[in-house]
Amino acid sequence: MENSSEPLQPHCLVLSYPTQGHMNPMLQFCKRLLRKGVKVTLVTAKSMSKTLHGSSSCTSIALEAISDGFDDGGIGAAGSPEAYIERFWKVGPETLSELVKRLVSSGPPPTCIVYDSFLPWALDVARNFGLVAAVFFTMSCAVNSVFYHCQKGWLEVPVKKQVLLPGVPPLEPQDMPSLVCDVGTYPAFTGMLVNQFSNLDKVDWVLCNTVYELDPEVADWFMKILPFRTIGPTVPSAYLDNRLEHDQEYGFSIFQPEHDTTMRWLGTKPKGSVVYVSFGSMAELKIDQMHELAMGLKRSNCYFLWVVRSSEAEKLPQDFANGSETSQNGLIVTWCPQLKVLAHEALGLFVTHCGWNSTLEALSLGVPMLAIPQWTDQATNAKYIMDVWKMGLRPQVDEERGVVTSDEIEHCIRKVMEGETWKKMKEHAGKWRKITKDAVGEGGSSDRNIEEFAAKMGVKKG
Ligand code: UDP
Repeated sequence: MENSSEPLQPHCLVLSYPTQGHMNPMLQFCKRLLRKGVKVTLVTAKSMSKTLHGSSSCTSIALEAISDGFDDGGIGAAGSPEAYIERFWKVGPETLSELVKRLVSSGPPPTCIVYDSFLPWALDVARNFGLVAAVFFTMSCAVNSVFYHCQKGWLEVPVKKQVLLPGVPPLEPQDMPSLVCDVGTYPAFTGMLVNQFSNLDKVDWVLCNTVYELDPEVADWFMKILPFRTIGPTVPSAYLDNRLEHDQEYGFSIFQPEHDTTMRWLGTKPKGSVVYVSFGSMAELKIDQMHELAMGLKRSNCYFLWVVRSSEAEKLPQDFANGSETSQNGLIVTWCPQLKVLAHEALGLFVTHCGWNSTLEALSLGVPMLAIPQWTDQATNAKYIMDVWKMGLRPQVDEERGVVTSDEIEHCIRKVMEGETWKKMKEHAGKWRKITKDAVGEGGSSDRNIEEFAAKMGVKKG
């Protein structure tokens, strides 16, 4: 039995929404927290834990799984986002409570739940067990501000005109998260993102995977109204401060990376010559967009490395799919070790969907971007990439067809790869690289926040 006069050893359960883009940052946060002396257990859905490739490079992090109601197949098996969310919201709190009960009896008992902002019901579970509750946001400050304003009713949805928010540059509808403009397409997701903020008045901590210096005014605004702390970038330590041992990769991947093929190919290319193209783990491109992209890459005459997930492969033009078009200049893979690719000296440009992890990775590694956002928070990230951080271009969308044309893609690739633009972006890149590195380095803004969090958990300095 635990001696009641003895303080409990700090033990955080870190609960992640089951997607690659949420697992990566939360797993990295676990590693940082562990280094500060907190015991950490990463929790995700069984459907996710069954499909993971690789293993965490940090064996001191325990891994547990709860049910999302679709243990075989997750959201893909649910039929619709509505069905998934409805069932997960019902089953999740029960199975998380069972896990907490089991850990309380087998020890060391949890003292805190750090939960993904997509899963606000975890706050009630934490409260039922008398645990500290911290919410973890995986999106940028500006995007969080948009959804916060929606939740408060301060922003009319659907958004149809320019929006002015404290500390955020004026956002036109095309810069807004798609889910607040186009509310009919994925109503369940719109609801989920707005509801992230529904119970924040009861939470002990609000942690955000960003760097204070990337968006200081919005971070300050949040800090005035909430116990808000920035803790990012959650990029493996080897690419930043190098203080965590053996932390060269996230460690878990839903898809199997074509590691050797990718790195061998990159190794044969001259410095700064390769255009890397990836739309992350979820975005689905229109066939028309795939064809325009293929044509734009071909006409740019640059080397290109293109990640096309298996589920997207049938949309490729035939001569790209059968390799006849790509054998000269290009390589298409189903998944790659993105961090290694971004850090490779052959890399010149990252054509990205502007997922928040990819954006933070490119900023941390100093890679100029071509921003082609697809949905959710990506358009707002694209706005910041181009206008605030000045680390990329955002090609114009052809309004009639709803795609970025091959001409526009070719033009933008050439502009960055051949011109002064690249030099300018590289100058900005140096600044952001230093800022992101310093943030997690000893005494940096994020390091201090994680230290403060650990101290409040009961970790003694020493
Ligand atoms: N990623 C990867 N290999 C790939 C493509 C992506 O390892 O071929 C990783 C990438 O480094 C990032 C994550 O997958 O950490 C994607 O997250 P992001 O937020 O950028 O996009 P999402 O997949 O959530 O849309």
